[in-house]
Amino acid sequence: MKKGKSCSVIITRQEHGISRKLMSPNALRTLYRLKDNGFVGYLVGGCVRDLLLGREPKDFDVVTNATPGEVKRMFRNCRLVGRRFRLAHIHYQNEIIEVATFRSQASNEPEPELEEANETDHRQRHPRMLKDDDGMILRDNVYGTPEEDALRRDFTVNSLSYNIVDFSIIDYTGGLADLNAAIIRTIGDPTVRFQEDPVRMLRAVRFAAQLAFTIEENTRKAVVAAADTIVRAAPSRLYDEVLKILLSGEGAMCYELLRQTGLFAALFPDFSNWLDTESEGFPHTRFGEMLSYVDSRIQQGYKVSPPLLLALLFGEYIDEKAEHFRRQGAPWQQSVNAAIAEFMGETCPIIMITNRVGLALRDIISQQMRLEKIPGRRPESFIARHDFSDIIDYCRITCGDKKDVVGQLGWWAAQASQQAPAPLPSELTEEAGAPQRKRKRRSRRNPNAKSMTERV
Ligand code: ATP
Ligand code: MG
Repeated sequence: MKKGKSCSVIITRQEHGISRKLMSPNALRTLYRLKDNGFVGYLVGGCVRDLLLGREPKDFDVVTNATPGEVKRMFRNCRLVGRRFRLAHIHYQNEIIEVATFRSQASNEPEPELEEANETDHRQRHPRMLKDDDGMILRDNVYGTPEEDALRRDFTVNSLSYNIVDFSIIDYTGGLADLNAAIIRTIGDPTVRFQEDPVRMLRAVRFAAQLAFTIEENTRKAVVAAADTIVRAAPSRLYDEVLKILLSGEGAMCYELLRQTGLFAALFPDFSNWLDTESEGFPHTRFGEMLSYVDSRIQQGYKVSPPLLLALLFGEYIDEKAEHFRRQGAPWQQSVNAAIAEFMGETCPIIMITNRVGLALRDIISQQMRLEKIPGRRPESFIARHDFSDIIDYCRITCGDKKDVVGQLGWWAAQASQQAPAPLPSELTEEAGAPQRKRKRRSRRNPNAKSMTERV
């Protein structure tokens, strides 16, 4: 280990275990092309962290001192994306390698002159960094040095870079020590870093759960203190990040951390209040049980679609809302529609569930009644629905222990297997493993059966 430029530490190839055999050949190709053209090229972020931990990286990100235009001239298979900050996407057969130009930390201070003027003088450095009155970053599209690029990242363990020139790792933040100690720590003052971007609080929770790391004490305290400010982040970003958390394979652990830090109540205020109440003398435990079930499916390599995920997690809550409308005299279908509208109305201002997913969620819940109608009208068109397997899976996972439901599922499985090439839902015949609903299944008899076979 030796000291590099400014305050970096260089970990030589002999001192770390990352082999190029574990890297994406396309990422290596990209790095070598940059190097051969006289530019700096590093692997950065999650991939270096994961390689050091012996985990398979999800994707390989590259940073360079070449501008996006220069990258484009070097790679014929390159497309520039992003209006605010231009990124280069290098397209390979099955993979896109993202190449970003070194960026600097956002600040409202005037920019300091760069030390190495000859390396960067051809580069645009506009005063484009801007924070709002509460310190949240509005824009940060400013090129910078490798060190600035490392310092603007969220956590120390996410700031390590791998240098293709000598296969060394460069550490500007103490990330390697934190990685060895299994600690998630913000780079710099956590209060400021969460003010700049509240989504980082959710990322801290996700990485802690996914990597089985501990959130460092000051970082954790800052999350607790700033939990309520999570709602300042853009609802579409929160949707993406919440989905990543719930589908991380460690959703139950994330949920635990979200509850402990106050983030969960800030993200889902109405639902969280409802969870704290009892229904028919029972506490609401289905959310946690379903998350554990979803985790186990994901860990076994299955995919869970976002609408099915939301139905499993929020279906009981939505059912109770629907029941409320039904008691007021609304027909079943209308009750479900009104319940979904209410759920979306309270959730979307904070977490922007897309319309498409909201409609698909409504269909999974409202089509449950169709399963009871055997054979019903035109069962083949019901089986041919694109969301048939989600409708079946939802029923099996939430009510599959009921005798009459087992019979219904068996009948639909037999029909689906006869109806080639309609795929048999992945879990249709599977009995074990799913958490079963403790509460009694509400009758969903619909006097208006005809309309239930149509898409609403
Ligand atoms: P994953 O395994 O989920 O992909 P990752 O660390 O690669 O984990 P990405 O979202 O792919 O996460 O981001 C890549 C890198 O970009 C991160 O490792 C981090 O260095 C930086 N980064 C991402 N989001 C932020 C953020 N909100 N603030 C600061 N840096 C960020
Ligand atoms: Mg990544």
